[in-house]
Amino acid sequence: MAKIFCVANQKGGVGKTTTTVNLAAGLAKVGQRVLMIDLDPQGNATMGSGVDKRTLELTVYDVLLESASIAEARQRSDKLVGTDYSYDILGANRELAGAEVEMVELERRERRLKTALAAVSTEYDFVLIDCPPSLSMLTLNGLCCAHGVIVPMQCEYFALEGLTDLVNTIKQVKANLNDDLQIIGLLRVMFDPRITLQQQVSDQLKAHFGDKVFDSVIPRNVRLAEAPSYGLPGVVFDPASKGAQAFVTFAQEMVQRIAAMG
Ligand code: ATP
Ligand code: MG
Repeated sequence: MAKIFCVANQKGGVGKTTTTVNLAAGLAKVGQRVLMIDLDPQGNATMGSGVDKRTLELTVYDVLLESASIAEARQRSDKLVGTDYSYDILGANRELAGAEVEMVELERRERRLKTALAAVSTEYDFVLIDCPPSLSMLTLNGLCCAHGVIVPMQCEYFALEGLTDLVNTIKQVKANLNDDLQIIGLLRVMFDPRITLQQQVSDQLKAHFGDKVFDSVIPRNVRLAEAPSYGLPGVVFDPASKGAQAFVTFAQEMVQRIAAMG
């Protein structure tokens, strides 16, 4: 049975998509079978995995509205097949923005993705879900089916403040919809150790959250930012770069952490 993780933070531009696609590629590299689900109408994780969101016939939208199964809607990326980094992709595009409204009338609307995932769960070791920058019905669908949440964050002044809403949402989902749910870890991303403030916030994070802060740290690295324009995760685009190496290390840490959880 696959272990399912949401990459979530309601703050925009904090590195969710970069984390999702690079962790997916990194996990594939260390031998894991991975499905990456793009749950953001921006479709950045889809494009960043080498799948053109504009030409997709079936997406996660069709899965949420139960007009397609995940087996029917998932894709392989031509850019990744044949490499050591290949993972399956359930893509998204702008159409998904309408799902929020269309699902209002539906029963079990927050459990649609969970139900759909049950049918393919034995085919994967990991399912990673890239959430949009909001605590919306889409994110709720992700949180409902996940065993845990990975929270990427930049070590900036308001970082801790922003976490409160997310932590409260996770508590509510755990209490009402998904008893399994927990924060697996906080991932420090776009980190620059030369900036004193970032060190200070990083220390605060460790003081508040202890073991919940991943040991791996993702540095600010321009190769990670360049990779999406080639339709590739940074881990594949430039495996020797500092950013790529940090994500492969993080993938290994994830595998160990999950094994330790049992
Ligand atoms: P959104 O909330 O819009 O979905 P996001 O949280 O998914 O955004 P990303 O798209 O992953 O964030 O990252 C935001 C920007 O920062 C992108 O341009 C990305 O390429 C860049 N970026 C992310 N991580 C790094 C890094 N470690 N080093 C350099 N640039 C990075
Ligand atoms: Mg994103």
